[in-house]
Amino acid sequence: LDVLDWFDTRCPASREITDRAKQRIPGGVQHNLAFNYPFPLAITGAHGAHLTDLDGNTYVDFLQAGGPTILGSNYAPVNERVAEVIRESGPVTGLFHEYELKLAESIHRYMPHVEMYRSLGSGTEAVMAAVRAARAFTGNSVVIKVGGAYHGWSDTMVYGLRVPGTYRMNAKGIPFGATSRTRELFPHDLGALKRKLVENRARGGTAAVVVEPLGPESGTRPAPQDFNARVRELCDEFGALLVFDEVVTGFRVGMGGAAGYFGVVPDLTVFGKAVAGGYPMAGGVGGRADVMAVFGSGLDGKSGAHIQVGGTLSANPLSCAAGYFAIEEMARTNAPVVAGRAGDRLTRGLQRLIDKRGLPYVVYNTGSIVHLESSGVMLLDMHNPVKLLKEKGPRKELIEQMGAAYAAHGIITLAGSRLYTSMADTDAVVDDALSRFDEVFS
Ligand code: PLP
Repeated sequence: LDVLDWFDTRCPASREITDRAKQRIPGGVQHNLAFNYPFPLAITGAHGAHLTDLDGNTYVDFLQAGGPTILGSNYAPVNERVAEVIRESGPVTGLFHEYELKLAESIHRYMPHVEMYRSLGSGTEAVMAAVRAARAFTGNSVVIKVGGAYHGWSDTMVYGLRVPGTYRMNAKGIPFGATSRTRELFPHDLGALKRKLVENRARGGTAAVVVEPLGPESGTRPAPQDFNARVRELCDEFGALLVFDEVVTGFRVGMGGAAGYFGVVPDLTVFGKAVAGGYPMAGGVGGRADVMAVFGSGLDGKSGAHIQVGGTLSANPLSCAAGYFAIEEMARTNAPVVAGRAGDRLTRGLQRLIDKRGLPYVVYNTGSIVHLESSGVMLLDMHNPVKLLKEKGPRKELIEQMGAAYAAHGIITLAGSRLYTSMADTDAVVDDALSRFDEVFS
């Protein structure tokens, strides 16, 4: 199968509409997970484990919208209950409604360390709020993050580690000053973390250490098993707050999230994605009640005594109700475990295919988060992050080309290198996907 021919002959409607989009939408495609090579697919249907495009092609969906739909795409039992709420109140009123509380209570039920919760509009906003809360609570301004970790697109936390040995995260449109209070570490470098904490102590202290508990990019550079516990100890020693970014892992690696998985309790936890079961305008931050007190009420923020966060659509009934119903449904159906088993089956099957053909690939998973990387990249990545940065170009091309090859065989992935499974991934779906992967690898 010639991949480019397949796109030409099987996807003319997608090509036409996404070509036309270039006239009115910068770059023609807006979602940063939509692949663009050789051109984007226009998706018209999403049901459980499958997607359909404008030309009528169907795909096994291992993108799952970038992670939020652990129950599977477009999950009817949640949709129906959300529709009832919308019929009554519409998507937003600007006033208090019961689903804000129900959501906060649900999160607390499965993650008792999230004593209080503030609903916001996205994972990015939630990270911004966590950083602001940590600064307000500790009175310190420096925040330490791990290089390669993605914490959304705010100026201060933008994806970084561009210049080995420095902590600059300058990018077009982001001035150096924006990250002057952000320090960045090479993945897993606890020695460097300690040095930074010591350095900052001389200047007052560190507000927070923010980590993705599985390691940067949901474990693309997997954290050693004891990493989070060691970071916890260092935070306690130096009086910094530990912030877990559980935008991906929350409710995905288990109902207790990564905190439950690793048995490490953070001070603050950032949520997004699954916290509204895939519905929009959702995300939030929660944790220790004494720290969360810095938020005050939405009104208090304006007084200056508390921090101000949130906006017109924050804590809306749509996303809060969706989150509440989705989380309770995930608990009822044991969705993280079911999706995790599908991830295990997919990983074992991919490993067999890699071994059968002696391919230069590494596959590994944490439950429903499956990583499929070129082994060259992984080796460089794990043992020599500086060299990895220089290899970025080829990796990008490889990702694009593999992503397109998988699509042409009916599989949608995240950037050709990450696969999220969901509760909709039955053994039959996974086995069908594996036979498609076999064709690609052949
Ligand atoms: N943090 C992590 C770990 C993420 O993976 C993401 C998004 O992919 C974010 C934060 C940002 O969340 P959002 O895309 O909802 O702004």
